[in-house]
Amino acid sequence: MQKLAFNDLGAQYRQLKEEIDAGIAGVIESSHFISGPQVEQLEQELAAYVGRKYCVSVGSGTDALLMPLMAEKIGSGDAVFVPAFTFFATAEVVSLCGATPVFCDSDPDTFNLSPESLETQIEKTLAAGKLKPKAVIAVDLFGQPADFPALQKICDRYGLILMEDAAQGFGGAIGEKKACSFGKYAGTSFFPAKALGCYGDGGAIFTDDEQDYRLLLSLRVHGKGSFKYENVRLGLNARLDTLQAAILLPKLHAFDEENAHRRRAAARYAELLGDRFRVPVVKEGFSSGFGYYTLKAENLKERTKILDGLKAAGIPAMVYYPKPLHLQKVYEPLGYRPGDLPNAEHLCDTVFSLPMHGYITEEEIAMVCTALKNL
Ligand SMILES: *Cc1c(COP(=O)(O)O)cnc(C)c1O
Repeated sequence: MQKLAFNDLGAQYRQLKEEIDAGIAGVIESSHFISGPQVEQLEQELAAYVGRKYCVSVGSGTDALLMPLMAEKIGSGDAVFVPAFTFFATAEVVSLCGATPVFCDSDPDTFNLSPESLETQIEKTLAAGKLKPKAVIAVDLFGQPADFPALQKICDRYGLILMEDAAQGFGGAIGEKKACSFGKYAGTSFFPAKALGCYGDGGAIFTDDEQDYRLLLSLRVHGKGSFKYENVRLGLNARLDTLQAAILLPKLHAFDEENAHRRRAAARYAELLGDRFRVPVVKEGFSSGFGYYTLKAENLKERTKILDGLKAAGIPAMVYYPKPLHLQKVYEPLGYRPGDLPNAEHLCDTVFSLPMHGYITEEEIAMVCTALKNL
């Protein structure tokens, strides 16, 4: 029997092989490797899919978060509020712009940015008077959208720009509104392990404002003006390869089915594990794309025991994320201490993610659950 995969990209490829191979071959035959027609087609389809006016495909999820900050001229002296429990890039882009990330705690149920903690951190920043609050980057962690209705109210009250880090969010929704449609800008990632992934690095930015859209197009190619060799600002080389766009198109067409499969798999996990573990909490009216299926142990000791047991049983499990961002070495100069953001710190000690993807089988889920229950 084949080894159980955490995220079985091979199973997806076997399903979509014909279209993916034809897409790749078509790009190579055309030699249109940069900005080929597949890139614009993908952007139009993505914008329509998530319900936004504009999509700008880019070279990575990190570019997709960095470029909106550049577009808003966020820089030195500005505060951008981010969760402490997320992937490093959410905060890194803030620092790359010269601004300062202000870390916020997580909701203990959804693991997403806590609106209460956000408000506390905004008030603290205003009281300290050193930094000017400018923006909030909220993350759709593990596939569930952050609480955008609550966050938008806070941002409106304080005059802050709200951005959605939807790198893990593609496939989630709040009511009828899909992930990537929240905030002034949303950025997603097509890193291979994400819910919608390509065969390398890639990402996309979504916005509804035509002027912001035009600015992002310029930032994507070295701050170009009316033509390629007129440079009116500093930008990046942040294009998505035509090959990756050609790979993403058939994957996007299969996405709804895979997303439904992940949701069914999550429901099955919950059925089998609900009496023993605290299974993911999805807020009323929200839906998760379940890019990751994440459980919580009681404490670090129990998690270590669970991870060791799963490893011995040949079940792949991952810890996203073992260290909160406010306690990362690079952010030592900001002066945070253990205990400052207790929910985020506790999550880092207790969470673990189980195999989950759009082709996981009933047998595989049963194997994982049996191994977990026998620990
Ligand atoms: C993956 C990820 C990113 C970065 O995306 P890349 O494509 O790897 O640059 C940013 N934020 C979150 C929450 C992520 O999971």
